[in-house]
Amino acid sequence: GKIMTIKGLRKVYRMGNEKVIALDHIDLDIEEEKIYCLLGPSGSGKSTLLNMMAGLEAPTKGSISFKNLKIEKMNESDLANFRRRHIGFIFQSYNLIPTLNALENITMPLLFKGVHPKERHKVGMEMLDAIGIKDRWRHKPTEMSGGQQQRVSLARAFINDPDIIFADEPTGNLDTKTANTMMMLMLGLVKKRRQTLIIVTHNEELAVFADYVIHIRDGNIFEIVVNT
Ligand code: ADP
Ligand code: ADP
Repeated sequence: GKIMTIKGLRKVYRMGNEKVIALDHIDLDIEEEKIYCLLGPSGSGKSTLLNMMAGLEAPTKGSISFKNLKIEKMNESDLANFRRRHIGFIFQSYNLIPTLNALENITMPLLFKGVHPKERHKVGMEMLDAIGIKDRWRHKPTEMSGGQQQRVSLARAFINDPDIIFADEPTGNLDTKTANTMMMLMLGLVKKRRQTLIIVTHNEELAVFADYVIHIRDGNIFEIVVNT
């Protein structure tokens, strides 16, 4: 079934007297357990759309529903709960906390949930094991390679078992080989856990992994290609 429904979405940024229409007339249904790729040139509105779906930015107009929850109607505390319960987010620049080690970084979401330290440690180590960097658990972000840091950020996104994983250019800072490994890890986890994945990219090579490729141009959906 449908997990998200977007209707008449519009986002306008104001910069002084200037208006930037980042997105307009966006209608989109997201199906459960499918993989979506948002593809388009830089500045076309991909990140804006992703951020609004994840409840990180408010739309100027239109509605975004997650199942029967209206995201655009939520206040800050509802949004925080929504993100904690249902959303995992992976950033291009990893966004890890520099002072925390790998284990502490990936178990942050569990800390917010009030999970007991022993349980956090156990779940965190299992997750690190699943993505092949268990031996790095004590390493701080600066003591890891880019590929390892992105694995930590992947683990952090999955640790709460979210319904949807959003990934904004997740392989943008990685070399081709590391990027492929990362994609395979991400797809493997999503399939096994029967989650929905939405990836933003300007790299057409990543589109082959998706069930649906949504082409974005100048703030509009230009075409949706179904991969069979
Ligand atoms: P993409 O992810 O496809 O590169 P974005 O969603 O980041 O595109 O940006 C879409 C448009 O909105 C661009 O013209 C960009 O400059 C503008 N934009 C994005 N974020 C902001 C912001 N915080 N303030 C002003 N303009 C913004
Ligand atoms: P990967 O293919 O996983 O991205 P690299 O080939 O970049 O790994 O790095 C090889 C090894 O060097 C890694 O196991 C990593 O621990 C170590 N390493 C890479 N970058 C750094 C760094 N900035 N500081 C400390 N160790 C690093």
